[in-house]
Amino acid sequence: MKEEHVPDLATRIVHHAYVPPEGFEAPQPGVFKASTVIFPNVAAMRSREWKDKSGYTYGLHGTPTTFILEERLCTLEGGLQCVLVPSGLAAIANVSLALLAPGDEVLIPDNAYGPGKDLAKGELARFGITHGFYDPLDPADLAARISPATRLVWLEAPGSVSMEFPDLCELVRICRARGVTTALDNTWGAGLAFAPFDLTGDGSLGVDISAQALTKYPSGGGDVLMGSAITRDLALHMKIKLTHMRLGLGVGANDAEAVLRALPSIGLRYRAHDLAARHLARWLQAQPAIVQVLHPALEGAPGHGHWRALCGGPGGTPGLAAGLFSVVIDARHSQQQVDAFCDSLRLFKLGYSWGGPMSLVVPYDIASMRSRAAPHLKPGTVVRFSIGLEAVEDLQQDLQQALQRAFVPA
Ligand SMILES: *Cc1c(COP(=O)(O)O)cnc(C)c1O
Repeated sequence: MKEEHVPDLATRIVHHAYVPPEGFEAPQPGVFKASTVIFPNVAAMRSREWKDKSGYTYGLHGTPTTFILEERLCTLEGGLQCVLVPSGLAAIANVSLALLAPGDEVLIPDNAYGPGKDLAKGELARFGITHGFYDPLDPADLAARISPATRLVWLEAPGSVSMEFPDLCELVRICRARGVTTALDNTWGAGLAFAPFDLTGDGSLGVDISAQALTKYPSGGGDVLMGSAITRDLALHMKIKLTHMRLGLGVGANDAEAVLRALPSIGLRYRAHDLAARHLARWLQAQPAIVQVLHPALEGAPGHGHWRALCGGPGGTPGLAAGLFSVVIDARHSQQQVDAFCDSLRLFKLGYSWGGPMSLVVPYDIASMRSRAAPHLKPGTVVRFSIGLEAVEDLQQDLQQALQRAFVPA
């Protein structure tokens, strides 16, 4: 009698016979990790389609974990298709590289996220793609800059660091009328403060693409880097998705799981960050060292009217405004004093990014970040705060002691 070949232990551990029962269900979806995806036969290998999510072919093309996250982010932002990328900056790069070719021009708001501007000055310029920076508070400036070569206009509401809130509807209308694709960096709004694909609430006006740094509020932990690019147009999505595939962009399943875990609480966290930030921004308005508070929900802040129209909520309800704002410290105080103020903070830590539980502070040199003067900003030094989830009284006390230490002569 022929003895059946018993595979070696090394083989039996890899090709194990046990299969867990089907039907497992729990609040949190499973973490599916793969580079290789197994096909039952060659026919399946040849016929399976990944572009429409009807099947799995390779880890880079999607797993149940990334498909679920993509769908939930579409729900958050009111989109229909999504790609996930390894960072917010990668989302900006993926969209730009998908839609622009040599000879094309991209227009970027002058107050946009800095590394996105650097991409235009670096790789995009190297590939023969030109760029211009428009004044986000002046729709006529955007209209005048759109040329036959303009293929893409980036939008950001409010602008990074200086927090001016543009007339998003008017900027989108201008681009629509000229047939130019719009891409919004929606990291601040996060799908909560306003609906990027339905700016007017009647379905008549929206951006073409909403990119987000999931690194911020969707992750909420200060421990994950990820980005998304969401659309409502399949042809546009396919352009982004094919570039995404060809560039080999993908995200790790554990990171996707971390965002999936944080997503259900994003509304609660966003409101908590917002409430604390508005309290502290108002309190800082009354401090003598500070000449201007740049928070779009505060009366008199640059673009406040646009914020109120888009995010202010019906009938004078408070609306939503994230947990980020900047202050201008009076020009009579030296850079050294401003640095001493930042160094004196104990709960606010020095560090980039935002959206996590820990409050952060960064001093900026705005003049070096702009292509032109920003006369709506008062002279002085800009310091940006990201408000975390600490008790607001403790944060206020921390600001008070640091102001005292840095700006009040002994
Ligand atoms: C943080 C941020 C990005 C980039 O996100 P990363 O994940 O850090 O690359 C892009 N845009 C805005 C407005 C941001 O705040």
